[in-house]
Amino acid sequence: MLVAGNWKMFTDLITARSLAKEVVEAVGSPGDVNVVVCPPAISLHAISEIVRTTPVGLGAQNMHEEANGAFTGEISAPMLRSVGCQYVILGHSERRQYFGETDRGVNMKILQAHGHDLLPIVCVGEALDQRKSGRAEEVVRKQIDGALEGIAVDDPALLVIAYEPVWAIGTGETATPQQAQEMHALIRSLLADRYGENKASEIEILYGGSVKPHNAVELFGQRDVTGGLIGGASLKAEDFAAIVQAAQ
Ligand code: PEP
Repeated sequence: MLVAGNWKMFTDLITARSLAKEVVEAVGSPGDVNVVVCPPAISLHAISEIVRTTPVGLGAQNMHEEANGAFTGEISAPMLRSVGCQYVILGHSERRQYFGETDRGVNMKILQAHGHDLLPIVCVGEALDQRKSGRAEEVVRKQIDGALEGIAVDDPALLVIAYEPVWAIGTGETATPQQAQEMHALIRSLLADRYGENKASEIEILYGGSVKPHNAVELFGQRDVTGGLIGGASLKAEDFAAIVQAAQ
């Protein structure tokens, strides 16, 4: 199980430090659950000092697909490694929607992450109109195929997928556990086609989209849901810890 908190563009250095300390305290010893916080890039270095000797891991919310170069304002995989990141969220729907990220770009970023010992959390998920017109599966299949083209997975622990229906992100509307399971099972089968049943069965597939303490147990109880990518609720240490507890 893996529970990752995406702080998005919330917190400054001071509030990020406080939140990280509160999360460490509230989460305690999470047992078998891997817990990760993904603060804004500007706070990564400071937060890495706080979580370094704790069970809480550190992730970035995005990165560039090249290791270095004339790309003003961008941050690369080696830079993220140098400040202590172990994870990176890639292809979040907000990146796709507002910053024009494509499956091809996500694919290049996964390669880059793997080349620099970063564990990618690859986000996929359909928009509301796509679900309403019965195209949810087709959309997610295309995103998975595009993102994982040519990506070798020797160790299933080195790839994480997050299914995040866009209509459930930040809206308070959650996919039903059945809807989540259906899509997770589809993703699992696509991974099996690509990497074989054994590896596919070990790849974490997180659900994201308005996960809260009150709905986490039921969502995490689904067969192919092995954790969560948490937005809003990860900004309150108590709620985030309750979701980690649900995963346990
Ligand atoms: C997210 O940002 O990935 C997310 C799932 O947000 P929220 O939990 O707020 O819906």
